[in-house]
Amino acid sequence: MKADVFFSACQHDCSDNCAILSKIESGKAVSIQGNPDHTFTRGTLCGKVSNYLARVYSKDRILYPMARVGQKGSSSFERVTWEEALNLISDKFTEAIERNGSESILPYSYLGHQGLLNGLHCGDRFFNKIGATIGERTFCNSTASKAFSMVAGPTGGLDPESFKHSQLIVIWGMNLLSTSVHHGRIVLDAVKNGAKLVVIDPITTSIAKKADIHLRPKPGTDVVLALSIANFIIQNDLADSEYLESHTIGFPEFSERANTYDTDTASEITGVLKSDIERVGRLISAEKVVAIRTGVALERNANGGDAIRSIAALTALIGAWRYIGGGIFQHPQGTFPINRRKLARPEFAEAGRRAVNLFNLAEALEPHATKPISCLFVYNSNPVITSANQTKLLANLCNDDLFTIVSEVFYTDTCDFADLILPAASQLEQDDLMYSWGHFNLQLNQKAIEPIGEAVSNTELFRRLSKALDLDDAELYQTDSELLVNSMDWRHPNMLGVSLEKLNLNGHARLNVGNPDKRKPHLNGNFHTPSGKFEFVSSLSKSGGRMLSAFRQCVMDDTVYDKVDPLPSYAPVATPPGAFTLLSPKHRSLLNSGYANSKSMRASNSIQRLFINSSDAKDLGIEQGQGLRVFNSVGEVSAVAHVTNDIIRGVVAIYHGFWRSHIGGNTVNALVSSSPSRIGQGITVNDTKVWIEPIGSSN
Ligand code: SF4
Repeated sequence: MKADVFFSACQHDCSDNCAILSKIESGKAVSIQGNPDHTFTRGTLCGKVSNYLARVYSKDRILYPMARVGQKGSSSFERVTWEEALNLISDKFTEAIERNGSESILPYSYLGHQGLLNGLHCGDRFFNKIGATIGERTFCNSTASKAFSMVAGPTGGLDPESFKHSQLIVIWGMNLLSTSVHHGRIVLDAVKNGAKLVVIDPITTSIAKKADIHLRPKPGTDVVLALSIANFIIQNDLADSEYLESHTIGFPEFSERANTYDTDTASEITGVLKSDIERVGRLISAEKVVAIRTGVALERNANGGDAIRSIAALTALIGAWRYIGGGIFQHPQGTFPINRRKLARPEFAEAGRRAVNLFNLAEALEPHATKPISCLFVYNSNPVITSANQTKLLANLCNDDLFTIVSEVFYTDTCDFADLILPAASQLEQDDLMYSWGHFNLQLNQKAIEPIGEAVSNTELFRRLSKALDLDDAELYQTDSELLVNSMDWRHPNMLGVSLEKLNLNGHARLNVGNPDKRKPHLNGNFHTPSGKFEFVSSLSKSGGRMLSAFRQCVMDDTVYDKVDPLPSYAPVATPPGAFTLLSPKHRSLLNSGYANSKSMRASNSIQRLFINSSDAKDLGIEQGQGLRVFNSVGEVSAVAHVTNDIIRGVVAIYHGFWRSHIGGNTVNALVSSSPSRIGQGITVNDTKVWIEPIGSSN
């Protein structure tokens, strides 16, 4: 039998955004493989997705709408029709609006799907229209994108594919071999060809083990480390004065700020040896063709945005942009000309509409709040695992006055607290267009099979909801074909040579941003800042606290935030006596909380591990495998000690993403709270402090 082959593109929250070929026979997917024609992902998929068909045809899929019949949290549901489900939502929304106003409806979503049609903005136009509270989604990259745009503008900067030309690669706060395996391969190839590798991370990750130099700063002190490296370069007359003169503004002020952190002071603050700071300073200025990639771990603290600004400053300081393979790669916010406003329709939201930071869901759901939430609509997300303050969140989700709807592919921990569950489609069951935050290719995801059971794509879900609520704006009923056209500005210069016709022929198309083997995007400055130069002193610092509108349903933020220093600055976060700084990194086999329910993950991860330095463990009398109580004022979790020297003293780590239902209790977000970062209102989970007590004896 002849098989049909469809172009797919990985929809998960991963910067690699792999190109996939899906083979279909008689309406059933029989295989998927990486598309070998894609220059970045080159035909390989990660271990999670290579077995994607097991996910599509899993017996654990949610196949039909289901309404709660037992107590909240009791997991008792019965099948209902789509018509019944939509009527119920319509009734509950109408009741909520009459009782508490339209802002008592709260959408909750993030990047459980990255598609332009079914991902970040798929529900925005609907919720903006009905007057719901705006969901601020600053879980990831809000701080980094904002900070980078303050110094360089919304440029993607260095092409990740150009790293093959770099002489020195600095990976800062990211385990590239775990969270961007294809870029990791490019970096390792460059290293094989002679490039030097510096990794900066308090954890000895798999990429750190391959580094020529591994610096291990205390979490949250990266801004000091970067400023000190800058100061070393300036004081030793190693900066590129011509580049500074022609293509930057604010260097004298920056130089003065950097001078606050001589290597002795910086060593004291960061815990990195003075000689290592100097070694990296010397290396960066000697090699010139320096490529930097930063990870999201770097931004997740109060000083995260300032770290990004000061690290980006290093590339201007040494004139790295003069060379192919020199510069820094950041989330390419402005490189893909996405018609976000056409997708999200912010004009539907009136000025002053209430907004809630979704990481702070536990607080937003307080039953006795002045403006209580009556209906919570969750899609593309699993907030019980990904929001802060898990214990309070669980209590508030049990509130009988709250009606919670969850649209999901699988039954997650959040479904336990739903009043109504809706079946969501998988990647193969829907059309989409995928941008990437890890390379410069746009990709088509073609619908390859009919949805399993009664699952629907998110675009169809919101069309059905619009109809159920009798909404009459044509924008709410656009077909997927219309949305494909409307999602991009096809006339933008970056789209020259990119069209839907081409995508239907090849599955992917590289943006018109230059050849990665020749590209020097900021050789002549050309930064997308108000001055057109790299801004050591950010002229946009007045609005630094504000997040980019993409992170709040495209509705502009008119909140007044604290002033942001025009120069990178450091504000210490105190660690109380006896406490540890808690990190919650991503696990190689998970995508945030996705894939935690796969059989292999369930089998091997029913125990929550806490990574602790061997000297700290010894001081606390903790042995390998010993049970632990980990606690702070927010909550507590149980864990088992994993004693290692792969983490620095004073810092511990628990992987993020595992489910309560598998661990058998609280997961790491039971320990984290939600104060926002100074720049871009991002989350600050890496500032979390915890205390640890051994319990019982080691296994
Ligand atoms: S999760 Fe990332 S690496 Fe894995 S297939 Fe998807 S895009 Fe590729």
